[in-house]
Amino acid sequence: MKAITFNISMPRIAAAKLLGVASRRACLSSWGPVRYQQVPDPKLLGPEWVLVEPRLAGICGSDIMQVFIKAGIDNPLSAVVSAPHIMGHEVVGTVIETGGAVRRMRKGDRVAVSPLLSCAPRGLPSCEFCRRGDYPLCHRFFDGSFAKGMHLGTCSDVGGGFAEAMSVHESMLFPIPESVSFDAAVLADPFAVSLHAVLRAPPEPGQTAVVYGCGS
Ligand SMILES: [Zn+2]
Ligand SMILES: [Zn+2]
Repeated sequence: MKAITFNISMPRIAAAKLLGVASRRACLSSWGPVRYQQVPDPKLLGPEWVLVEPRLAGICGSDIMQVFIKAGIDNPLSAVVSAPHIMGHEVVGTVIETGGAVRRMRKGDRVAVSPLLSCAPRGLPSCEFCRRGDYPLCHRFFDGSFAKGMHLGTCSDVGGGFAEAMSVHESMLFPIPESVSFDAAVLADPFAVSLHAVLRAPPEPGQTAVVYGCGS
C-alpha cells in the first residue's frame, strides 16, 4: 500500500533544515525525512486488533512541526517517538477486518480512532493513569509489545492514518453515529483536546475568553 512516512535520519533532517531556510518545499523534497512511498500492508497485531481503512485524516499542528522540522532537538516529545513511522493520528475510517477476540466492532463500521498507544494496546495491565481514564498520562509509552511511541503516527511498529490501511486496537475505536459525517467526525481529536482544556477551567458566563489555534 501507499503511505506517508517519516524517517529520523540525521543527514536528512540536517539537509531539510538547511535547505528549508531557502524554501519550505525543500522539506518535502527527496532530501527531506518525509516520503510518499510503497510500504508493506498492515497486519492484525493480535486477536483484539482491527484493520481500518482511513477515510479522512486531519493534519495536526504537530504533523506540520514534524514535516517542516520545527521542533527543537530538545523537544521532550521526541523521547516518545520511534522511526521510521507512518504519520497521521487524527483518523476516521471504516473497519475492514477484525481479530478473533474483537467484540464491539464489525466489518463495515464507521469509526473514529483515539490514537494513544497506552497500556491496553501495548498488552499491559493498566497503569494507575489508564485505570482512571487519563490515557495521555500513561507511564507505559515505552513498554510492552511495540517500539516507543505516544500515539499512532509516532511509532515504528503501529502505522498511522496517512495510509491506505492501518491496524488499531479495539479499545482505541469509537463508532461514529449515523447522523455524524466523516467530515465532522474527523475533528473528534482536536475537539477533544479543546474540550478537555475548557472542562479543566470552565469560563463563567460573561467572562472574556481567548480562542487560540484553529485546530486540524
Ligand atoms: Zn493532533
Ligand atoms: Zn497506562
